[in-house]
Amino acid sequence: MLVDNHGRTIDYLRLAVTDRCNLRCAYCMPEHGALFANKDTLLSLEELKRISSLMVDMGISKIRITGGEPFVRKDIMSLLEHLSNLKGLDEISITTNATGIGPHIANLKRLGILNINVSLDAITPETFKKITKRDTFQKVYDNLVRLITEGFNSRINFVVLEDQNIEDIYALIELQKRYPIGVRFLEEMPFNGTDRNFNKLVWDYKHILEHIREKYPDFIKLEGPATSTSINYQIPGHKGTFGLIPSFSRTFCGSCNRIRITATGDVISCLYGKPKANIKQLLSEHDSDKVARAMIKDVLGKRAKTGFDAQQQDQLAFDRSMTAIGG
Ligand code: SAM
Ligand code: SF4
Repeated sequence: MLVDNHGRTIDYLRLAVTDRCNLRCAYCMPEHGALFANKDTLLSLEELKRISSLMVDMGISKIRITGGEPFVRKDIMSLLEHLSNLKGLDEISITTNATGIGPHIANLKRLGILNINVSLDAITPETFKKITKRDTFQKVYDNLVRLITEGFNSRINFVVLEDQNIEDIYALIELQKRYPIGVRFLEEMPFNGTDRNFNKLVWDYKHILEHIREKYPDFIKLEGPATSTSINYQIPGHKGTFGLIPSFSRTFCGSCNRIRITATGDVISCLYGKPKANIKQLLSEHDSDKVARAMIKDVLGKRAKTGFDAQQQDQLAFDRSMTAIGG
């Protein structure tokens, strides 16, 4: 079992498989693309398999595959097949923009990988295009509906963006009225790969909730696992649920159970801190996993208590792109 220096059990790995992406969401990276890593510095399929086995052996029971866009990686299904055979790994989930998931839906089902978070920040094609700089709304929407109707446990991630997609919030509530899906509204974070930084947010989780309350005054707060980052609600009569993720306000740090490994092997113990080590480098230098295991324990033994502490300790410059971190 992995436990950090504040007594928190760490059993959840967010594993980024690439920093590349076919969309250009403005809140994530600049239109011309982020400063992508050299191809030979990205984790190979063999390294991803080795890292996931090692982490599960150390006590990780949940892995979320993220990126960049996981499905731009041609060998992604081979990694997922490997994960589905790992004893001790209870949950595999994927965060995707759903542009390229269509051809893989049947195989995902076969592997029993049913937890799919789809990022969808607009329900109007024009707004979608403005945010993502690509014209793929219909494909994403069709794939989302396919996932829902084929019985996947899908959720929508919607980053609330001032002056960009506020009009679509109610439309997303209407979507979860009709479909048994969880829509989660995320606070924007300043990880956009540009110098557009901010230390105050107009649309924080409290503001989002008040906005929803204006049109939908009756909702019930749902109980969730202590480690959940979302505060979830249900409106009576609606098939789905909605939730708020205070990713900027950071109200959930006390029960944080996660560790991140980026597509280049950087180990991140807090989203708001700098990488603490590089596992790709250690694995390439040692045949045995012993040194990498010791490094993971060391990193978790020096973990900041909260995202605010990590930000202060590391003097983090917000010039990184979320595509390099994995969300
Ligand atoms: N490409 C995939 C996708 O978009 O779902 C996976 C990677 S993406 C970096 C992971 C998650 O991070 C997405 O839900 C995305 O909306 C979120 N994200 C990216 N940049 C963000 C930002 N600046 N603030 C809040 N969330 C962000
Ligand atoms: Fe790509 Fe996801 Fe970033 Fe959008 S949020 S640019 S889909 S990595």
